[in-house]
Amino acid sequence: MAERLTLRTGIGYDSHRFEPGGPLVLGGVEIASDVHLHGHSDGDAIAHAVTDAVLGAAALGDIGGMFPDNDPDNRGRDSIEMLILAVAAVERAGWRVGQLDVVVITETPKIAPHRQSMRERISAAVGCDARDVSIKGKTNEGMGFIGRGEGLACLATAMLYRA
Ligand code: MG
Repeated sequence: MAERLTLRTGIGYDSHRFEPGGPLVLGGVEIASDVHLHGHSDGDAIAHAVTDAVLGAAALGDIGGMFPDNDPDNRGRDSIEMLILAVAAVERAGWRVGQLDVVVITETPKIAPHRQSMRERISAAVGCDARDVSIKGKTNEGMGFIGRGEGLACLATAMLYRA
């Protein structure tokens, strides 16, 4: 059945805690900040959510399966590099990334000033045009862990087309 599909979609989600000390790496972009995202890798929640959306669309598992957090090779790793490797696996399975849509839910930093740089970094990593990558910021209206500024969350969808 799946072999007959020419388009597939995937969804990804990620969240990371803020820890003292910048800079903050998000969407492959370094943002001046007094906090960073805690994680085994560089904590780039946009790159992680996009990686899971792309892998999910191809039904190739998830980022944790491909890059286990108990593997010392993944410590402090550049998440854009992990995204590139995930896209390579998706391409070997016969798919190309057509389009992405991302929502970043956070009280701070503001996403808009960094949106274009993020679109360029992410689109270069997945091999599509920057115009086909959407990145939107959203606050959580002060509610919950995001509202208290403890961390941020990202949602991403990916559309793949048959190569
Ligand atoms: Mg993550």
